Amino acid sequence: MFGRGPSKKSDNTKFYEILGVPKSASPEDLKKAYRKAAIKNHPDKGGDPEKFKELGQAYEVLSDPKKREVYDQYGEEGLKNRMDDSVHDPFDIFSSFFADRERRQRRGEDVIHPLKVSLEDLYLGTTKKLSLSRHTLCSKCNGKGSKSGASMQCRGCQGTGMKVTLRQLGPGMVQQMQHACNECKGTGEKVNDRDRCTQCKGEKVVSEKKVIEVNVEKGMVHSQKITFKGQADEAPETVTGDIVFVVQQKEHPKFKRKGEDLFFEHKVSLAEALCGFSFVLTHLDGRNLLIKANSGEVVKPDSYKAISDEGMPIYQRPFMKGKLYIHFTVEFPDSLSPDQIRSLEAILPKPSTTQLSDMEIDECEETTLHDVKIEDEMKRKPQAKREAYDDEDDNDEHPGGAQRVQCAQQ
Ligand SMILES: [Zn+2]
Ligand SMILES: [Zn+2]
Repeated sequence: MFGRGPSKKSDNTKFYEILGVPKSASPEDLKKAYRKAAIKNHPDKGGDPEKFKELGQAYEVLSDPKKREVYDQYGEEGLKNRMDDSVHDPFDIFSSFFADRERRQRRGEDVIHPLKVSLEDLYLGTTKKLSLSRHTLCSKCNGKGSKSGASMQCRGCQGTGMKVTLRQLGPGMVQQMQHACNECKGTGEKVNDRDRCTQCKGEKVVSEKKVIEVNVEKGMVHSQKITFKGQADEAPETVTGDIVFVVQQKEHPKFKRKGEDLFFEHKVSLAEALCGFSFVLTHLDGRNLLIKANSGEVVKPDSYKAISDEGMPIYQRPFMKGKLYIHFTVEFPDSLSPDQIRSLEAILPKPSTTQLSDMEIDECEETTLHDVKIEDEMKRKPQAKREAYDDEDDNDEHPGGAQRVQCAQQ
């Protein structure tokens, strides 16, 4: 074994040898090497305390760029001459190595609020005032929790509330275990009751009511996020998260929205479809639009017409707007009297197909048309098949369809 006992060498490779890394090792390499070796040699699992101490020393020097530079040039002697730092407890080095890793990533959670807005609000833009309650660092103790301002952080665990111990599972096999710190019962702090801050009762944070004005801009869309950076709950040694509002567009009774376009349903009678129509459409901002047919134009069932620049404003370009589409449904009369038929036949254009001759009609079988709701018919099909399969033994009944055909022919 190398490196054991007091070395009189004042060379500058010993620390690298102790950690088992080349002199060119990166800070990441050093971390990895220290981590592996320190766990393996920890006295808790029967490792050599002297070796453990050396590892701590070597890592402490090489992980500090300034100390490493001095060491590389002048060796251990150089450090003794130039640095007045006392050598640290190897157990502290070990604990803070793991504690730092935990602390570095700590970021407060984002607070997410759904924000219901009407289509009118999204068309016009609006400001919503919302009252929220949040935690802020106590102003009296600056988030320390103590009167004296002393940190209440537990030294046993560096405030993490966790301690790392090692357990030997077998030769060369070590399990690294994290468990709640016994000194602070996992809270990460040790409190002197008399020194507790009176304003926050040692909690370090206080609740605060805050009114937030949320600016809903024209043209915002469903599930768009409005973020207030760093406005969520504060906590000591934590990067405060964001408050995030998520736009929830409410259903509108008249308008449907698809991106920057609006859709509006309108029913016209057959007479209107043929002879022209006009109606008033009240827009989302209350303006009344006169919608009328182009002269002589016939509206076909299930057709669309569009009006430019009457759709939704475009986000951050609110002077540009999408289209307003009108979907037309034509209401046909259920039946007509013989007089009406004669009048219409006289007026309407003749069908382009030629009339059937009597002879052609004689050669055909006659049929009768039934009213159906095609969606229901199609839905019933797979079910009917299943029922027939279930009632296999039931042979008395004819299949309904065949009987209906017979009746119709009588
Ligand atoms: Zn502790
Ligand atoms: Zn306080």
